[in-house]
Amino acid sequence: MDAAVADTAGQFELNEDQRAIQEMTRAFAAERVAPHALEWDKARHFPDDVIRATGELGFGGIYVKDDVGGSGLGRLDAVLIFEALAAADPAFSSFISIHNMAAWMIDRFGDDAQRQRFLPDIASMRQLASYCLTEPSSGSDAAALKTKAVRAGGNGSDYVLNGAKQFISGAGASDVYVVMARTGEDGPKGISTLVVPKDAPGLSFGAVENKMGWHMQPTRQVIFEDCKVPAENLLSGEGRGFSIAMAGLDGGRLNIAACSLGGAQSALDKALAYTAERKAFGQAINQFQALQFKLADMETELQAARLFLYAAASRLDRKAPDASKWSAMAKRLVTDTGFAVANDALQLLGGYGYLHDYGVEKLVRDLRVHQILEGTNEIMRVIVARHLIGRQ
Ligand SMILES: Cc1cc2nc3c(=O)[nH]c(=O)nc-3n(C[C@H](O)[C@H](O)[C@H](O)COP(=O)(O)OP(=O)(O)OC[C@H]3O[C@@H](n4cnc5c(N)ncnc54)[C@H](O)[C@@H]3O)c2cc1C
Repeated sequence: MDAAVADTAGQFELNEDQRAIQEMTRAFAAERVAPHALEWDKARHFPDDVIRATGELGFGGIYVKDDVGGSGLGRLDAVLIFEALAAADPAFSSFISIHNMAAWMIDRFGDDAQRQRFLPDIASMRQLASYCLTEPSSGSDAAALKTKAVRAGGNGSDYVLNGAKQFISGAGASDVYVVMARTGEDGPKGISTLVVPKDAPGLSFGAVENKMGWHMQPTRQVIFEDCKVPAENLLSGEGRGFSIAMAGLDGGRLNIAACSLGGAQSALDKALAYTAERKAFGQAINQFQALQFKLADMETELQAARLFLYAAASRLDRKAPDASKWSAMAKRLVTDTGFAVANDALQLLGGYGYLHDYGVEKLVRDLRVHQILEGTNEIMRVIVARHLIGRQ
């Protein structure tokens, strides 16, 4: 185990600042998010005001540098924030996670003029940002993307985009789209990243997808029809887009894992409370050893996932050479564990687990997609195996 991991009652050793961040986030989530999560889910309501209010807490640019309004925090700090928000609502937390991934890509790969132009609004959440990689015919095989960006205008002052992005979280609600598009040859080397504002001519959105979970945020196609974007919105030069997209995902995967962890913890807490109250065969059902063993396993697996995630995040903070592998391992492990724990919690509530008002079925639905997006869990295994075999 990493030297930075100390076993204090099964918890990662957090410093005082990190505990304060956790407390502040929990307080916000308990007051502004948790009481509304079920209603937002049912009404498929996007709580634009509450999302933007997180900007006041510095959640719009958690690991964006502070010269452009970011909070300048680390990856472990971010994980703590997403975990705490997800305990109230994983769908809410994951929306903010994707916004942060897009913000960081501009911070890390934008030049100073781009950082100054885009990030103060994004970090404060006056503007929301989406990440656009997936296309109708390419998901896991992202390097096969077809959306084209062609240099045009006098002196090549613009790019003109044509194509479509699929499954884009926040599409239509966001103000800024960080788009991977093809400017050159087939494969990863022909891909570039452009920042596309919502009011760009030729940009439109598909219908809102009818999903299993994540109901409080819209998922739609983003459609480019001769969509004109100034050439100065290109991040870091042509041909760098695929590595920019993958770098964004390293942190994104930790964040989405944190969303699973928080959601699963909430499911376990609900199961603990319910099994203490519910009676069958003359006693509280938590007196049956079969249920106790189930609860013990859920706690053990969740704590193990938490330690692993915190260790992976601190590796990315230290820019460890194997940080990408650890992000992939953490994403796979924590999202699988989180889903299994939430699903077990549903079982422990019996028929009530299946009812919306008890809150657990929503957690199961919300956590299921974390095994699919930001790279499926099969692709996480591909990444880990590549690192392992490549070392031989
Ligand atoms: C609700 C939601 C929100 C999303 N938000 C965004 C977003 O904001 N931005 C964005 O860009 N994308 C987003 N996505 C897209 C998501 O990242 C993709 O769905 C995901 O990467 C998988 O791509 P795909 O759906 O095309 O599946 P495919 O790539 O077609 O995969 C189908 C199946 O084949 C498996 N598979 C594919 N290749 C391999 C392989 N080499 N080895 C083993 N198994 C393999 C996959 O694991 C999967 O089980 C979102 C998706 C959903 C559902």
